[in-house]
Amino acid sequence: MSEESRRFKVPDELADLYDFANTLDLRHFTHHGVVHPQGDELADAAGLGAWMSQRGLLAAGAKVTGATFEAALRLRACLRDYLQRDPAEGARNKDAVRSLNEALRLFPLTIEARSGGTMGLGAVREDALAGLSLVVAQLYDGSRNGTLDRLKMCASDECRRVFFDRSKPATRRWCMSTLCGNRIKTRNYRARLRAD
Ligand SMILES: [Zn+2]
Repeated sequence: MSEESRRFKVPDELADLYDFANTLDLRHFTHHGVVHPQGDELADAAGLGAWMSQRGLLAAGAKVTGATFEAALRLRACLRDYLQRDPAEGARNKDAVRSLNEALRLFPLTIEARSGGTMGLGAVREDALAGLSLVVAQLYDGSRNGTLDRLKMCASDECRRVFFDRSKPATRRWCMSTLCGNRIKTRNYRARLRAD
């Protein structure tokens, strides 16, 4: 759970997944005359290690290797590709589904009985990928309880931020209508004026 996920009221059960998808920041729009700087929190293996540690996802002694880093980047790319398509627009893209499934194979999960009497998903692996498996578990839990459909990618090409749609009908297309939504509406309006 990050400051950002709290700010946008992302459910705790999806917060790591939301943060993970947004470690890549492709926003490059101009707001109040300033171009938003792009960034990648997972620029290298050390960056991934730091990101996982901050969220309690790196077990003591677990080491982020080059292979872990590669697997994490592939998972993130496939996840973002999957979330890119609004579930309301019909089935998810077949290629995106296949790629995501391939990426997910490195993160096997098992049913875990918890002392409180509940069951949950736990990581099978015991290396650094175990922490990322817990992010993957959120994907499954979200799909079971319906919240995953509300995790979407902003429709603005200059943004591509993953956001949690809290609107009642779950039909939002932009991470922030006051920002990305308005920008696109203004642009479409100008284009119409030019066409006339
Ligand atoms: Zn946006």
